[in-house]
Amino acid sequence: MNLPKLEELKDIAGKKILVRADLNVPLVETDGIMQVADTFRIEATIPTLSWLLDRGASVTVCSHLGRPKGKPEDRYSMTPVREAVNEKLPTVKVLENLRFNAGEESGSLEFAQQLTSGYDLYVFDAFGAAHRNHASVVLAPTLLPTVVGINMALEVDKLSKLIDSPASPYVAVVGGAKVSDKLGLLKSLIEKVDTVIVGGAMAFTFLVAQGVKVGDSLVQDELVDQCIELMATGKILLPKDFVALETGKPFGVSDGEPTQRVFEGDIPEGWLGLDVGPGSARAFSAVISRAASLLWNGPMGVYEDPRFSGGTVTVARAVAASNAYSVVGGGDSAAALRKEGLADSVSHLSTGGGASLEFIEKGTLPGIEAIDKRLGWR
Ligand code: AMP
Repeated sequence: MNLPKLEELKDIAGKKILVRADLNVPLVETDGIMQVADTFRIEATIPTLSWLLDRGASVTVCSHLGRPKGKPEDRYSMTPVREAVNEKLPTVKVLENLRFNAGEESGSLEFAQQLTSGYDLYVFDAFGAAHRNHASVVLAPTLLPTVVGINMALEVDKLSKLIDSPASPYVAVVGGAKVSDKLGLLKSLIEKVDTVIVGGAMAFTFLVAQGVKVGDSLVQDELVDQCIELMATGKILLPKDFVALETGKPFGVSDGEPTQRVFEGDIPEGWLGLDVGPGSARAFSAVISRAASLLWNGPMGVYEDPRFSGGTVTVARAVAASNAYSVVGGGDSAAALRKEGLADSVSHLSTGGGASLEFIEKGTLPGIEAIDKRLGWR
């Protein structure tokens, strides 16, 4: 993909450059003060900001943060992010949350004009937002000469390897809450991969399609037929044992009572499957260890709760131990890898969740298309 890169910018000393980064980081509230909980995305865009500063540009960075509804909300203020950026690069100006203006999400031309006015150049480095049809993603690049930043270029390069010529066997591991979020990806992947391992709550809709009883686990009944079609390829590998909790008991907390149980095959009524069982995790690891190309997106269970993190941790270790070309996307899988200290053991840890899925599915993204269509300045 021939995207215009930073190296094409000549004589930028004194130029006013607006960088669209993805600084949408998780925040934690301690004593009423919001703080950045994970600097991963901030780190990812530092090389671009430093590159521009080193050449004498005046750099302003903008991003969205969380999901405010088109108006300012204190808890989504960029203040903690600004502090984290300025700790590393004191001269970078950080604008307030783009989504404090309704025009960002509605894709308003007026907002894009307001945002870009006064700047000489636009640098798009926000891979994690490149699947959105928002003003800063699809309109700003048409209003100013635009190049992609180092993070954006790296993401496109690393993910393209899984699209263009993945070495076989190609194994995808997909998990998370909803089949509906990943159906497009699954349909596109099924053509290219040898095996798709499905875990997380998603697996239950497939299991129902196979006639397995899943108790009170999450199922999207309206998607059972599509799961049957996907399974007809013979490429879908599902869990066969589960870690479950009695329905109604709290989960997702770190100090839950250890009353979980492992079930082989059917899950009885009154129980909720919240992780793949140890036998399935081992079977998944064996398939992962034989892969030459690997894509992992989505946890195998409610991994935030230590009672249901076993499947995700086992998969994280197997992906990290593999010699395959491995790409991990999505906040939860990336967080699980980092928590295990295994982030450096994969070929690429993507900063994008939805964006990495959509790029692998379609081979392009709205943000990429917009840069392609930018004013013909090259
Ligand atoms: P996603 O955002 O679709 O990748 O889904 C991630 C979320 O799915 C995490 O917050 C998990 O807690 C949740 N999840 C994974 N497995 C299950 C399950 N078996 N039941 C309920 N939620 C789950």
